[in-house]
Amino acid sequence: MIASDGVWFTITYALLTLCVMAPTGEIIDSGLTVSRMLKGFIVEEHTDFIAHHLSLTAANTIVHSILPLGYVFGLVIFGGASPETLIPFKGNLWPLLLVAVVLGGYALNKTSRHYLSKWSTHPVAKVLSLYTLESDDSWRRVAERLNAEFRGPDKFSTAGGITRTIVLPSWLIHLETYEMHLIHIADAKLKVIGSAEHLVSHLDASGLQCLTILVESRRERVPSFTLQLNSSDYDELRQRLPLENSKNIPIHRNLSDRFIEAFRANVRLNPTLEYDEELDSCIGCMQAQPDVVLRKLCDNDSEETIRSTRCVGCLCRPLWCSSCLARWFASRQDPDAPHTWLRGKCPCPTCRSTFCLLDVQPLILRKTPGTSASST
Ligand SMILES: [Zn+2]
Ligand SMILES: [Zn+2]
Ligand SMILES: [Zn+2]
Repeated sequence: MIASDGVWFTITYALLTLCVMAPTGEIIDSGLTVSRMLKGFIVEEHTDFIAHHLSLTAANTIVHSILPLGYVFGLVIFGGASPETLIPFKGNLWPLLLVAVVLGGYALNKTSRHYLSKWSTHPVAKVLSLYTLESDDSWRRVAERLNAEFRGPDKFSTAGGITRTIVLPSWLIHLETYEMHLIHIADAKLKVIGSAEHLVSHLDASGLQCLTILVESRRERVPSFTLQLNSSDYDELRQRLPLENSKNIPIHRNLSDRFIEAFRANVRLNPTLEYDEELDSCIGCMQAQPDVVLRKLCDNDSEETIRSTRCVGCLCRPLWCSSCLARWFASRQDPDAPHTWLRGKCPCPTCRSTFCLLDVQPLILRKTPGTSASST
């Protein structure tokens, strides 16, 4: 009985901890977050942006760091564990109690030192103090100028989640649960260093590409940091800041971009076709050279495909580049079911004969003897 109480308490507490540390959209909307619960104690973001986030990150640190302590005492009060289990060197819960006390004590000590110094020892105050204009200027005045920019209309902010990136006319700010990073835009160097595809994010049910961006400063003593950005925010950020993508990481701004990438990756797996005739530019974009041709390669006669529309051989010359063909293909699919698109079928944009992804053959272009002779 006691053991089962402990298990139930542990499961309930683990769920509670998860909700506190990684709140879902519903929890954020319902106001059950640290910031909403401490609303009366923390100054509004709009009134004093810097003070709000210094207090909020400190509150998050303290609340989260006392969760283990809550668990240990909860086990005794609600989980049926006996108080003797907490006696040092005797009970079996005392090592857990020790870890919880050390963790809570460390967080409390760190945040209270910043709080008692009226935040002047905080890393954010140290960064702000590098941007004082005159000798009698202080980090607080710099913070006031930043706050005024935040109240102004010219700002960009990513959708609120656990982390948030805000771009003001002269500042880039990245907010995390326990930390606030900031840098003056004049000193910021941004580089895309990685990307990850998430089919389902915990705040958004649609698939998305998440970019990792390294932010470095040209000014000494301003710490570097990384931020995660949804690829749909990439253009907005690039309009406001110099953003380098030296590794040429493909940025999929929307669903169509992501589909084009997936379409082309699948087509590359199909058998290639050597082609030696001269080709004009793609008739879709008038820029790229056609790099695919439609030839029936799929197994049309299986039972499953007989019931659906059959693929038909197409005899059209290569006229389209793979990106334009992918865009055309996507436009003929069910917009509400993007997960089915790669399995879909589509009429050839020129002759209307049905094809599927397996029928898109990549071209290997062989130069005709006449063209190769002129190059030597
Ligand atoms: Zn094209
Ligand atoms: Zn055709
Ligand atoms: Zn087919």
